Amino acid sequence: KHVTTITAVGNDEIAQLSHAINRMSQNIEFYKQQRKQFLADISHELRTPITYMKGYSEVLIHELEGSKESRKKYLRLIYDQSHQLQHLIEDLFELAKLEEGTYSLDLSKTSLDKMMQNVLGMMADSIEQSGITLNYNPSLTPLFVQGDAKRLQQVVINVLDNAHKYSSIGGSITVSTLKEETFGLLIISDTGIGIPAEDLPHIWDRLYRVDRSRSRATGGTGIGLSICKEIVTLHQGSIQAESTEGQGTTFSIRIPLFEDTTEKNQTDADCK
Ligand code: ADP
Repeated sequence: KHVTTITAVGNDEIAQLSHAINRMSQNIEFYKQQRKQFLADISHELRTPITYMKGYSEVLIHELEGSKESRKKYLRLIYDQSHQLQHLIEDLFELAKLEEGTYSLDLSKTSLDKMMQNVLGMMADSIEQSGITLNYNPSLTPLFVQGDAKRLQQVVINVLDNAHKYSSIGGSITVSTLKEETFGLLIISDTGIGIPAEDLPHIWDRLYRVDRSRSRATGGTGIGLSICKEIVTLHQGSIQAESTEGQGTTFSIRIPLFEDTTEKNQTDADCK
């Protein structure tokens, strides 16, 4: 009787184990497939600018006797493509480091508004020169997060640069910072082209671009948001997007508030 019980439990365990192994092999198969797709996409992305550069150089070789303007035009096109290639390689390298887990954050008390002002200082002119209105609503109370200022800046530059790239003349971009109970919230909202509902869940995927030609024309690689998501997740925060096609997009980034433990202890001590 005793033996029967053990066998029954054993069978159950074996069933569970075989179920787990099945699930694992399905996952492995899924990742293998994803990796294969990613490598195919990457080869395509790397090949494209090289093909253009080769083509333009060929034209240039034949155009050497041509006008200065036309030579300049082809050199500019070659320059743009090499820039795109460099961008792509840098982004890929950054993503590889993030996924490898060798990327470490240098967390400290970081003012979201100071960081935002830095970024706006760098980008406002270029945005406004494109005929886009830029509004900034800083938080009403001091807002400090537990963050790596350089990395957070990288996230914000990426999202703001997207808002710029996917907007047109007459549009507007609004940046706001707000204090929530446990998070610092940064909202970047644009009145640009928007993202179709079926594409929205995929914008965080590596190399995913809604409109490849538009994204490439503006120097996009389709990697920026994957990097943003990894960095924000490392901060124990979140990044979300809402969008209506043809109307605009809003990105919300939440980073845990900085907890000043020394100040808290002080207050506790004072109360006693
Ligand atoms: P990219 O370098 O192509 O901009 P990202 O990873 O930053 O790549 O973004 C992925 C895709 O999400 C973009 O190609 C674009 O189609 C879409 N996207 C991102 N931000 C916006 C935005 N503010 N408005 C419209 N589309 C956007």
